[in-house]
Formats: sequence, structure tokens, C-alpha cells
Amino acid sequence: MVRILLLLLVFLFAIPLANAKPSVSDIRIGVHPDKTRFVLELSEEPAYRVFTLPRPYRVVVDLPELEWNLPQEMAQQQGGLIKTLRYGLFAPGTSRVVLDSQGPLEIISVFLLPPNETSKHRLVIDMKPVAANAFAATQQPYTSSKPLPKPKAVVVRSNDGVKDSRVTIVLDPGHGGVDPGTIGVSGIYEKEVVLTFTRDLKEALDATGRYNVLLTRDRDIFVKLADRRETARQAGADLFISIHADAHSDRSLRGSSVYTLSETSSDEVAAQLAATENKADLIAGVELEGQPDEVSSILLDLTQRETMNLSAQFATMLVEELKGKTRLLGNTHRFAGFVVLKAHDVPSLLIELGFLSNSDDEQRLRSQAERKKLVTSIASAVDRYFFWQQSMR
Ligand SMILES: [Zn+2]
Repeated sequence: MVRILLLLLVFLFAIPLANAKPSVSDIRIGVHPDKTRFVLELSEEPAYRVFTLPRPYRVVVDLPELEWNLPQEMAQQQGGLIKTLRYGLFAPGTSRVVLDSQGPLEIISVFLLPPNETSKHRLVIDMKPVAANAFAATQQPYTSSKPLPKPKAVVVRSNDGVKDSRVTIVLDPGHGGVDPGTIGVSGIYEKEVVLTFTRDLKEALDATGRYNVLLTRDRDIFVKLADRRETARQAGADLFISIHADAHSDRSLRGSSVYTLSETSSDEVAAQLAATENKADLIAGVELEGQPDEVSSILLDLTQRETMNLSAQFATMLVEELKGKTRLLGNTHRFAGFVVLKAHDVPSLLIELGFLSNSDDEQRLRSQAERKKLVTSIASAVDRYFFWQQSMR
């Protein structure tokens, strides 16, 4: 009996241990005459894959899914070759660190150190500058002897493949995980603002009972631009709404604005926003080699004409619903080559809730009452749009 109880106890304690993710407790950068050293301190010895990427020069560190018990200032460190750094979930089961380099670089060594009196397990990466023409020859990855599974794509599937008879709407909170998006004037992350907002919007749409609402992400995880569109396509979505809150170098710019796809931008602000948004995969350290260069050219064909007309119709209704209820950017409906809006057969729109580079706008998006006004307006526009569609049949 005692033995059974003991076994039971061991079993009960083993469950949380088995599920607990390894955690990161410190990130350090050391600048030495001959190298820049990057150190990650962890609760256990990690599997890893470390590699470099060009254009722009970066170091990418893939690890198992980790808990990041770190103050936000940790992400503001820099030194030596390391210009900026970011970390977070890259794919289910894979966490990632991206180090932006001052220039072409070579990894000299990657090794693990066991715990001692002052430190836990450490992953150490040493790097040094290299001539641009020698970079390619130094690009082979460093991997741990313990294998690290390849990152999986994040395409959300609708109700395990069962088709919902209702209209399907895919909501797409921008950024996530290793891509924080814009960082607001008071330090708030765009990826957090838009996820909170998207959950509220889903709740409002679900409450009507009329819609099958899917999210491209419902946690702090990175999702590739193409996988966001793919979620909409596979769900046979009737509408795709991408949700953002970006920044602009002109800090006086404020107000919500809506964007639909176009080969040429309506204006400089729209062009800049699209250029920033289209860099999301790059920010997260996704290799773009070998993929069609869809970022630099947004060529549309005639089959997309109908989809674009529907997108524009929804944008018009949305602007009408927003008017008078919340602060708007002038010429509220704008156009640009947003890669995430390129699904051929799904009417798609991107809403910038506001500019996190403007302190009034940031305040507005932090306020639940203000967010509710936006949620209500979008939900009304969705109702109007589908009512209009039905009346056209
Ligand atoms: Zn964004």
C-alpha cells in the first residue's frame, strides 16, 4: 500500500515537471577585443541550432519552446557586433533569438557550459566580423548533439475540417512571438495590443451567433505572412481582417486608418506602413532565399479584381461606421502593397487601430472604453457588409 502511494506521489510530481518548459533567466553580451560574446542562461541544457543570414546580416538561434522570465530591458541590450536583439516563440515548440549584426559576421564557436556556483546552464555564442565576400563560406549552422525538431508552420484549421455553414471570418492579429511589431512610446508592444483587441473583436462577433470566427494566432507566437493568408484560404474565409497598430517617424500622426491591396500606394504613409509590415518575416529570421520575391513586387491579375472590389466595399462601410465614433487619420481608406492581403479569393483588409508612436493614440488603445468603440464599429461594418452581400444574391 505504501509503495503504491509512493508511486502515485512520484507520478503526480512527475507530470508538472514533464510539462514545465525550460526557462531563460539571463541574457548577456560581452565585448572583447577579438570577439563579441552572446550568452543565454537557462534552467536546463538546451538543444540548439545557430546560423547566420545575410541581407540584413543576422544571427538566428533556434531553441526548444522556452519561458522568458526576463524584464523588458533585456531586449534593449546591444554591444560589439550586436545592434539589436529580440526573442520569442517562432513556431509551436520552437523559440528563437534574432541578433541583428552591425555588418557581415562569422560565428567562431558555439558551446554549452554546465551550472556553477553563480550561473545556471549557459549557451555561449562567439562571433567576429568577416569580409562581406567571405560571409557565404562561413554560413554552415552549428547544432547541438541533442537534435532540435524543425519548426512547424502555423496554419489554423477550421473546426477540425468540419465546414461551418455560417459565414467565416478570419481575424489576423499582426506580429507575435519573436516579432514584437512596433514598440509604443511607453514601451507597449504592438503584438500585445493587437492580440487583446482581436480577442475582444472575436467575442463581439461570436456573440451575434452569425459568424464562424477564426484567429491566425491566439497566443504570443510568430506566424509567417503566407501562413496567415493560408489560414484564410484553407478555411474558405469570406472575409480576412488583419489588425495592426504601427508607428510613423512623424509622431504627430494619429487616428485609425484602413488599407486595402493595391500595386501602387495611395500615399507615402501607406507605402511606408506596407514596407514595414512586409518585413515581418525578415524580422523573425525567416530565410527568404528560394521563395518568389513577393515582397518587392505586388503584381495583381484580373482574377483578383472581384476580390478587390469586395475588399473596397467593406473598407467603405468600415470607414462610415468608424466616423464620429473614434479618432481617424485623414483619407481614412488608403491603398498599398501589403503582402498579407494578397489572398486571391478572400476579400481582405488591414486596419491600423492607431499609431503607437503617438502618445495620445497609445493612450487611446490602452483604454478599454476606446477600444470598445472600435470593436463595435468593426462589428457593425461586418454586419452591414454581409447583409449587403445577401441582398445582392
Ligand atoms: Zn504591424
